[in-house]
Amino acid sequence: EIYGGERRNSKGLNIHIAAHLNPLMSHLAEWRNTSWDAGPVINGTRRRDGERSEVRSPYDQTQSVGYVVWANESHAAEAVEVAASGFRKWSERPVEDRARCLEKYADLMEAHMEELMAICCREAGKTMQDGIDEVREAVDFCRYYAIQGRARFGKAIALPGPTGESNELYMEGRGVFLCISPWNFPLAIFTGQIMAALVAGNTVIAKPAEKTSLLAHRATELMLEAGFPPDVIQLLPGDGGTIGGKLTPDPRIAGIAFTGSTQVAHILNRTLALREGPIVPLIAETGGQNAMIVDSSALPEQVVQDVLQSAFASAGQRCSALRVLYLQQDVAERMETLLAGAMRELSVGNPELYSTDVGPVIDEEAQSALQQHLQELESSARFIARAPVPPACQAGYFIAPSAYGISGIHELKTEHFGPILHVVRYKAEKLDEVIDEINSAGYGLTLGIHSRSESTAAYIEQRVKVGNCYINRNQVGAVVGVQPFGGRGLSGTGPKAGGPHYLLRFATERTRTINT
Ligand code: GLU
Repeated sequence: EIYGGERRNSKGLNIHIAAHLNPLMSHLAEWRNTSWDAGPVINGTRRRDGERSEVRSPYDQTQSVGYVVWANESHAAEAVEVAASGFRKWSERPVEDRARCLEKYADLMEAHMEELMAICCREAGKTMQDGIDEVREAVDFCRYYAIQGRARFGKAIALPGPTGESNELYMEGRGVFLCISPWNFPLAIFTGQIMAALVAGNTVIAKPAEKTSLLAHRATELMLEAGFPPDVIQLLPGDGGTIGGKLTPDPRIAGIAFTGSTQVAHILNRTLALREGPIVPLIAETGGQNAMIVDSSALPEQVVQDVLQSAFASAGQRCSALRVLYLQQDVAERMETLLAGAMRELSVGNPELYSTDVGPVIDEEAQSALQQHLQELESSARFIARAPVPPACQAGYFIAPSAYGISGIHELKTEHFGPILHVVRYKAEKLDEVIDEINSAGYGLTLGIHSRSESTAAYIEQRVKVGNCYINRNQVGAVVGVQPFGGRGLSGTGPKAGGPHYLLRFATERTRTINT
């Protein structure tokens, strides 16, 4: 059970066949003019008391998507009160009840797939394929953690001991979990963190990324509809500094699940370390400076396809995305030529269109930081290729997928969270230096290897310190229960999301010894 058993992942839809695509397109069209409305949800009540702002689409600033009322410090104070008081009852409910709520929520997300996809697209700028993957991953998290929850929390484990004594080990929830999720997987990671915490018997305060509050709010409504009690899940859309700053020092917060920047993970870690009260876990999933190493035995066409997917899909806004491609000198010229040709064919534009490969980046700030980096590359690096960006993209925050040659990963001081690929040529005899250089960046999330030599692939895999290593394929899109996901070092704490050990960090263990 713990490793998956008979479990099936959600199928999603195949947009490359007309029988799936056509009905989907007409459903999505129905949501085109909808305006969504979000705000804090405390004890099941949608709050309207607070500052309100309009949400506009990242791919077309003239399009309004809805309105958000921001949570403030007093909402946070109320939420923690409610979540703390809901804990005892929820943690005492049989895990079977809790797991059923997860499964009901998964079913509801599937039933509302088109609406959730439409919000993903209009609020976060996700392409149709990304929208499908997003809902599918969220559904998978629910069903997977429901199975894990039953296996882990359903019964105590009997342990051998002396005659006349019974010994058992069991697990239970910790208390109130603060779940802080990112905009790049606004439904999947939001859902994954919350469901893991809930099935383990915790109550949750969710602080979604400000940029994707509409989707988080709609998902929270579905959670309540699925039967999670109102005092079990509190939603606080708002500023990270305000909400996190209020809640992290609060001794009633029994753990934090965080996905976002390394810098914010450090702040949370420091705050938890300095506060009075219980010592609690921080589960952090942060950034990456991910490399792919391609040797001369690799299949060029496959490499190109996998590089495109790893570096430019989701506009490069995945922490798993490829940032630095290492090409063995002997094949570099040819690979770059093929890559440049393929990049010119990429279709950048409106993510609502079937034909779009790459949508916008999330906001103006992201766009200008990436533009700045491109300018620096323009003067210091070797230009390789750029995908064309049509004039209609002026209305949104687009960045042309681009590739530049640099001398090594050390040139990159920060993570550049967008569709920019850096290419380094290396000589076969310098492979060890390449490996040391990648490790010295301090991150450790994903690694791609393309080689037909099993021993070379194994050698690289063993030496580069990462959480997820992909050999002869792309390095993004980890599947729940199939590729448990998460890194080490500057990339996070583990345990891996969608893996058999994830729930353990959300729980506390108890040993019961009875003298019989
Ligand atoms: N799990 C995602 C993937 O494998 C990345 C998650 C993230 O960007 O935070 O591509």
